[in-house]
Amino acid sequence: MIPPLLPTYARAPLAFERGEGPYLIATDGRRFLDFAAGIAVNALGHAHPRLVAALSAQASKLWHTSNLYQVPGQQLLAERLVAATFADTVFFGNSGAEAIECAIKIARKFHAARGEPQRFRIITFEGAFHGRTLATLAAGGQKKYLEGFGPKVDGFDQVAFGDLEGVKRAIGPENAGILIEPIQGEGGVRCVPGETLRALRALCDEHGLMLMFDEIQCGMGRTGKLFAHEWAGVTPDIMAIAKALGGGFPVGACLATERAAAGMTTGTHGSTFGGNPLAMSIGNAVLDVVLEPAFLEHVNKVANYLKQQLGMIADRYGPVIEEVRGQGLLLGLKCKVPNTLLVDALRERGMLVVGGGDNVVRILPPLIITEEHVRDAIAILNDACASLAHQPAKDAAK
Ligand SMILES: *Cc1c(COP(=O)(O)O)cnc(C)c1O
Repeated sequence: MIPPLLPTYARAPLAFERGEGPYLIATDGRRFLDFAAGIAVNALGHAHPRLVAALSAQASKLWHTSNLYQVPGQQLLAERLVAATFADTVFFGNSGAEAIECAIKIARKFHAARGEPQRFRIITFEGAFHGRTLATLAAGGQKKYLEGFGPKVDGFDQVAFGDLEGVKRAIGPENAGILIEPIQGEGGVRCVPGETLRALRALCDEHGLMLMFDEIQCGMGRTGKLFAHEWAGVTPDIMAIAKALGGGFPVGACLATERAAAGMTTGTHGSTFGGNPLAMSIGNAVLDVVLEPAFLEHVNKVANYLKQQLGMIADRYGPVIEEVRGQGLLLGLKCKVPNTLLVDALRERGMLVVGGGDNVVRILPPLIITEEHVRDAIAILNDACASLAHQPAKDAAK
């Protein structure tokens, strides 16, 4: 019998009652160190006083008016995102997938508005994840997610991860742009080299293509810069963000340059809930904290410490962990045992992490963790790895 809740998730047998900073307290009273952060969403941890205050204040005044009217919080957040990035303009939605949908529409409209509506195809990369709507699934190109949902939405051509020659071969007269995560999250914390991002920028300039970055997971300070592409010294034409932007409140945004968004005139896009006053109060509060001068410095410092400590764990437990990857606080442990074993072993010991593609365990703590939290996490990891290192060989993946 189908349960009342559509069973599309394999959920852990665990529910939470409240959170405090990097901790989650389960309904049975157990306390967990949350190095999953709701899959890179709770960047400021749980119940951050600034976010609680912003949401509470807004909740007692006004929740929703629709986009038929001016929404001052949207105006403000858009201006601040524009000031902090390459972008000239911002559209607000409610999720990552919606932000990507908007990016795809902007890229296609850019060409259509210039009299080239035949240019609609987007090049994407193997291992990508861009969301679960029909178009974003087609962009991600993962067979296991596409199967059974009818013909794949047309207009997406996938090449191997980081394969510049493949990109060159895929570029044709129908191309509108290239869509890439500067660091693949779900795909297993795979970093795209800066030189590859720069080469993609050059290819886009050469062929008149829109360069689109999906910074839904890697953006908003997680890598130690406000956006991951800043490390490479290139800017996109269009960028999708979400996850940490709302610190746990659903919000997404699509940022674009004036040139890229030239075709997006009145009536070309919309959303009922997108950018509503509650979401905007939180988005502005998140930005208040992340843009504080010392914040990213803190992320870099604690991230370096965590990565160094993870490196020592990987050295000690070679049969369990193959390598440490990632940047800032978007880190991955490529496992030699099935990654689910490590996720479960950590959870049993009071620490939450997230699985990922390529048999990786993702370490995505809130950006507000301290070195003390790192020490606690490393002690738990050490214990979990020791237990897995002693597992009978049949449990180890090839
Ligand atoms: C989570 C994620 C998405 C999808 O976001 P939703 O809010 O689940 O729609 C898209 N791209 C990346 C890189 C993500 O991590």
